[in-house]
Amino acid sequence: MAPPRSRPRRVPALIVHGGAGATPTDGREELREGVRRAVLAGWHLLAEGGRALDAVEAAVRALEDHPRFNAGQGSVLTARGTVEMDASIMEGDRLRCGAVAAVSRVSNPVTLARRVMEDTPHVLLVADGAHAFAREVGVPEIDPATLVTERQRARLAAAGARGTVGAVALDRHGTAAAATSTGGISGKRPGRVGDSALVGCGTYADSTLGAASCTGDGEAIIRVVLARRALDYLKEADDPHYAAKVAVDLLVEEGRGGGGLILVDWRGRMAYAHSTPLMPVALMSPALAEPELPF
Ligand code: ASP
Repeated sequence: MAPPRSRPRRVPALIVHGGAGATPTDGREELREGVRRAVLAGWHLLAEGGRALDAVEAAVRALEDHPRFNAGQGSVLTARGTVEMDASIMEGDRLRCGAVAAVSRVSNPVTLARRVMEDTPHVLLVADGAHAFAREVGVPEIDPATLVTERQRARLAAAGARGTVGAVALDRHGTAAAATSTGGISGKRPGRVGDSALVGCGTYADSTLGAASCTGDGEAIIRVVLARRALDYLKEADDPHYAAKVAVDLLVEEGRGGGGLILVDWRGRMAYAHSTPLMPVALMSPALAEPELPF
């Protein structure tokens, strides 16, 4: 859908995250290389005048394809040793959004979430209903066993891994978009759905304010409706760094959990914050020759 014509041109911006659950001893170079590649995958589109929605989808797909991140190929396992993934995507001009939950038969849940947004009157499809829809619209079906990595089998034995992925962008037309994708939390009960599939909690975009993608304790993020609340803070203070920080304080104090989030505002100013030791992020804007990797 075309963006409103009356808006002045904006400076594009893209920021991605690789989850708030990484530990500093966890192979930082691999994380840096992963988020760098993902931000560039989206940036190539944005820099040529492309849409924020395409940029966040491309960036998240790159992270879903990377076995080091907890989404798509690197997803953590349920208590039963299976993979159940959640994802959502949102475009902030008309508040269009789509999501999938507990899916195991697609390699890029973010793309299926986008198809839900664009090709159905619904917002969220789950499990077998989502798989049937994927088949109908020609999203390739995969054997769920191919998503189970040795690394995650070992992690399940050790318990507790986290590390959702996400991206938020503003394009030249002033459209804000956000996307989030995850395998959830390691050892979760089959059927558990986290914040990443829930619009307003893990993902939100409103082009008059900006866009946000969250990571961390899903149940705590849901309790405080974190992504939408972060944009409310942006409205109050017109300062993305303040909004990100106050939103994380809210997650810790009222949500009683840990995590982080990335933000872009309607002017293309980017920010991030986290309460955990490490959250890989990569930022790109026309002012930068190379992605900024502040971790
Ligand atoms: N928020 C995700 C979930 O609870 C996990 C994460 O961000 O690492 O499903």
